[in-house]
Amino acid sequence: MLRFFQVLTYSCCILLSYSKLTEEIESAKDFLESYNREAEIENTLLYNAIWNCYTNITDYNQNLMTKAQQRFARFGKDKWEKLKKWNWRNFTDEYIRRQFQKISDVGESVLSNEKYQRYSEIKSDLEKLYSTAKVCKKPGDLNPEKCYSLEPDLNQLMANSTNWDELLWAWKGWRDETGQKMYKMFDEYAELFREAARINGFEKADEYWKSWYEMDNFDSEVDRLYEQIKPFYQHLHAYVKRKLKKTFKDRKFPDSDHIPAHLLGSMWSNSWVNIFSQVAPFPNKTNIEVTKEMSNQKYTVKKLFNISEEFFLSLNLKAMPKSFWKDSMLTKPQDNRTVFCFPSSWDFYNQKDFRILQCTEINMEWLVITHHEMGHIQYFLQYKHLPVVFRDSANPAFHEAIGELLALSVVTPEYLQKIDLLPKINNDLDMDINFLMNQALSKLTLIPFAYSLEKWRWGVFNNNIKKEEYNKAFWKLKCKYQGLSPPIKRHDHDLDPGSIVHVPYGVPYIRYFISHIVQFQFHEGLCKALKHKGQLHRCNIFKSKEAGSLLSKMMKLGSSKKWSVAMEIITGQSKMDGSSLLKYFEPLIKYLEEENKGHKIDWNEECSDSYKLVSINGKRENLLAEYIKIQLFMIICINLCINQIVIVF
Ligand SMILES: [Zn+2]
Repeated sequence: MLRFFQVLTYSCCILLSYSKLTEEIESAKDFLESYNREAEIENTLLYNAIWNCYTNITDYNQNLMTKAQQRFARFGKDKWEKLKKWNWRNFTDEYIRRQFQKISDVGESVLSNEKYQRYSEIKSDLEKLYSTAKVCKKPGDLNPEKCYSLEPDLNQLMANSTNWDELLWAWKGWRDETGQKMYKMFDEYAELFREAARINGFEKADEYWKSWYEMDNFDSEVDRLYEQIKPFYQHLHAYVKRKLKKTFKDRKFPDSDHIPAHLLGSMWSNSWVNIFSQVAPFPNKTNIEVTKEMSNQKYTVKKLFNISEEFFLSLNLKAMPKSFWKDSMLTKPQDNRTVFCFPSSWDFYNQKDFRILQCTEINMEWLVITHHEMGHIQYFLQYKHLPVVFRDSANPAFHEAIGELLALSVVTPEYLQKIDLLPKINNDLDMDINFLMNQALSKLTLIPFAYSLEKWRWGVFNNNIKKEEYNKAFWKLKCKYQGLSPPIKRHDHDLDPGSIVHVPYGVPYIRYFISHIVQFQFHEGLCKALKHKGQLHRCNIFKSKEAGSLLSKMMKLGSSKKWSVAMEIITGQSKMDGSSLLKYFEPLIKYLEEENKGHKIDWNEECSDSYKLVSINGKRENLLAEYIKIQLFMIICINLCINQIVIVF
């Protein structure tokens, strides 16, 4: 009897708690439904305000954007407070629990209203500083008032010039006009970021960004991936350095075996693809560079986008909506507007409005960029049916990887021949090596760039890197991992990472590192699915419905499941790994190993103290100007500077 009574009581308790639980789940579902409705509206308002500002940067629009960001932050924080009503961490329904978990991530909005306002003001000022920066007083310019913006002027100069001094002027000028002016603001930004992370439960602020990958061993995994590709990067670095020494044969390179950072064809040395002609293994062989053919065929920006869309359609994926064509900004406006030209893709969260903002030019690089950006739009379209909080990729790197993955097929000779940009040619090993060199210069080089940049930001956020050593620590990492050294003396009051758009805009960068690893895993997975025979770099997924179906299946998940589940759909494996990348580049790796025989392939870990701006044909005025500046700002190092001048003169 007693036993029966106990069982009855126990069952009643279960029933009671069960009904309480059901009630809680039902109210949680109601909350999510109304959250979703409101979040769509709030996101649309926010992204419209940001769009209006990015496509016409004025004080007025910037002010409206800041207000919209504050409104959105209030919305997020309000919901975050309401969440506390539920014991959601114990929900057994993963789909519901995961939505609550994502809503609970309100980032910096968690700050007090006053602090959040300050935070968004700083962010907005940093962004404005970057997007409106211009560099003046180009050596040899007759008009000293003439100034140059990053896009297209400085980018083109960095891509095409082989004049050491001109490159140095642009490289240093851009850092003087951006990072150096951000120094104080950035420190305040970092402090507020740290405070927000603490309130969000992250003792060390770098853990906040890392948490998006849902991995306990994120750091060691990233380190492992870098170590995996490091020998290949060292070979590429050694080979490129020897070639550059030929181009700049009358200039002194550092004894530490670093490459001066201004010689690699871009403002930041993240991609070295623009110096291909200087380092081409077989310069007399046909190069798969179709820019000239694009101009012969009178390509327009619209055509570039049509070709890209055609690729997605060939995989049975979605077409761009009508509003995309009407509302995107695909070229730099010809009026006097200042616009944010860095290519970006936009989801306005109303399930119908998706846009690209980029100042497209007609060349092969932009053909690839266009596929990259449209890859983002495709992802938006695939998961637009999901609750707002799941409208994201499985992890931030996956969003970056989709367009890149397609571009791996777009640049194959087979595909370029199909769209009549390349004549029918007999491909041989030399051409393959040229092709892979081109690919490595744009893809492999980004990995150590991303690694060093993000290690720096993590160090700043977790307080391991103090304000006084921001710039020194940055170069320490760049010298160690990227093998690059500054081409001119840097100072503690410089903030060279601030010259990279993702820093003032607060966009995490490790996603590009990871996307450059996983895109090769995806490529290999899809090529297996379409039973590609032969080398991985010659696989082309154009018109493959099997590949399209796997991609769609993965993208449709949005961020509703852990990334390992999404990855398994395409690759059959749940771990990130660099072996697909190494397989893709196998012929080039063999070539470089052979070429580098008898040469040192690594560099000193530390930046060389003895590296001075030594110039055999150096321009006296530049050095004098640098000397005066050092005197003004760094009285303490006068002795060192004088030594520097002595060496030069
Ligand atoms: Zn992207």
